[in-house]
Amino acid sequence: MASHEEILADKAIFAYLHRLIGDDGIELIRRFPTDKEYSDEELAEITEINLNSVRNTLYTLYEHRLARYRRIKNNETGWLTYLWLLELDNMYDSVAKDLEIVLEKLRRRYKYENENAFYNCESCGSTVTFTDAMDSQFVCQECDNKLIHFDNDLLVNALQRRIAKIEENLLHE
Ligand SMILES: [Zn+2]
Repeated sequence: MASHEEILADKAIFAYLHRLIGDDGIELIRRFPTDKEYSDEELAEITEINLNSVRNTLYTLYEHRLARYRRIKNNETGWLTYLWLLELDNMYDSVAKDLEIVLEKLRRRYKYENENAFYNCESCGSTVTFTDAMDSQFVCQECDNKLIHFDNDLLVNALQRRIAKIEENLLHE
């Protein structure tokens, strides 16, 4: 089982978690003691993060199967206490699912960019495909200026690199 710091050191995971629970949530994970389960009140005290924020983070993590709790009933008062544990190892599944979606979008964009030639108006910035440029006789429909072939090699290469990188990450899991 990886430590919380090790898990947070992974950039893709950090970004995913940060989107989910924000700065306070990340701090909670950093300061979350791993020796036993704790109640939300105890966690607020130990980590010095306010109780509402601790609760929000715990519920959000729980919804994403990244935390679980055990409910304990005080026999005298009947009060319920929730004792929390983080299960950040499930992170790898969540991030992988996220990356699959991103990858799919990038692949579609890559295909589109790779299969089309583009024309661009240097005066207004409007960009159209070769087919559309031909239809308008290479005149910009926005401002009547000439459309010039637009080299998208840089973009295609950048997309290709990002796709390769994500594919590599997914393979390592
Ligand atoms: Zn134009």
